[in-house]
Order: sequence, then C-alpha cells, then structure tokens
Amino acid sequence: MLPLRVSLTIIIETALNVGAGGSAGVLADKPAIRNGKGQLILPGSHLKGRLRHACEEVARALGQPVCESPRPETMCPQDPTVLYPPCIICQIFGSPSYPSPLKFNDLVLKDPMPGEITRPGIGVNRRLGTVEEKLLYFVETSPVGIGARFQAKEAIVGTIPTEQHAKLLWLGLRLLRNWGGGRSRGLGWGVAEVDMWIDGKKIQPEAIPWPEEARA
Ligand SMILES: [Zn+2]
Repeated sequence: MLPLRVSLTIIIETALNVGAGGSAGVLADKPAIRNGKGQLILPGSHLKGRLRHACEEVARALGQPVCESPRPETMCPQDPTVLYPPCIICQIFGSPSYPSPLKFNDLVLKDPMPGEITRPGIGVNRRLGTVEEKLLYFVETSPVGIGARFQAKEAIVGTIPTEQHAKLLWLGLRLLRNWGGGRSRGLGWGVAEVDMWIDGKKIQPEAIPWPEEARA
C-alpha cells in the first residue's frame, strides 16, 4: 500500500449552498454548516460522497466493474457483476464489508467576507418545499459568495494499493463540478485545485498510465 495525501482547494464559481444535502435523505451527503471552531466547512463526508459518485462514473467509462452504491445489499461483495470484490471504487471508498483505507477531512472556508456567512437562505423557492426535508433545508441554508475558497491541506489521507487509484481519484476530482446543495437551482458550481503526494513525493496524476487491460 502507498501512503497518499491530497491537498484540495475548491474555488466557488456560483453561490454555494451549504447546510443542505444534494439528495434528501442520504445522510452521508448532508453537509453540516460549521465545525467546532465556528468555521464554515464542506464536510469530509460530503467530499467523500460526491467524489465516490464521480469516480464511479470514471471507472465505468474506463470499463472497470463497479458495484451499485449506495445500497449495502448491492455493494461489494454482494454485487454479482463484480467477480473479484472489492471493486476499484470500494478499494478506495470502502463498503459496509470493506473499510476505506482513506480518511476524508473537512474543507474550511478561507477568509469569509463579513456578513457572507450569516445571511439567511438565498434563492430557495419555498414552493419547491414539498417535503419536510425541504423545510429543514431552507432553515439551514447559508450562502457563500463567488470566488470563495474551501481548503484542506490534508483533504484526503491514507493509503492506496496502486498509483492508478490516485489517478482515478484525480480524474473524479476533475469531473466533479458541483458542491453543496441546490444544483438544480444553479448553485454550488466550483472547480477543485488538486495536489497529490505519494510517499511524500509530489506526483503528476495525469502522467500515470492506466493499465492496458482497463482500456480494453
Ligand atoms: Zn464495490
């Protein structure tokens, strides 16, 4: 196993809606607003959930067998389409049967503008609030302005089996363009700046070759 560290800066391009999940009822994808120090954050659980989904899309596009998350009964080793579980996604993100070798940490908002984080919810159409979750969502909404940066020098730390796993993470991070809640209302678009180290040495993920058998 190779020691991996990923540093992330997410630069927000449209207002970000934190404090609401991307999909109602999925606990792992439900961001909290602040950490114990009162700082506005994108929680590590949110990063992990969104990134897993993005990496699944990449892995499938590369022809890799991937189990069906997030329901435990169709994840490795329960998915019969994955002949040799765990699949490459569960090797990175884990499943109910396999622990993840990586830890996903909170990203913290850098230099918030005065007032920016205390306004009540913006752009939330209450007519959309057809279920209880939406009401909660409205109450917890807190906007972050354009150009805001969420950062963590140790956003992802742990170990990975091969360099290709780092490349898959990197490809997923490049694909991932939406953070927080409110994607359907055009909120939360942002790009991630990614730096990766394996065994303390900075790597160029784009230069890591994908094995031939994955392209077949
Ligand atoms: Zn799997």
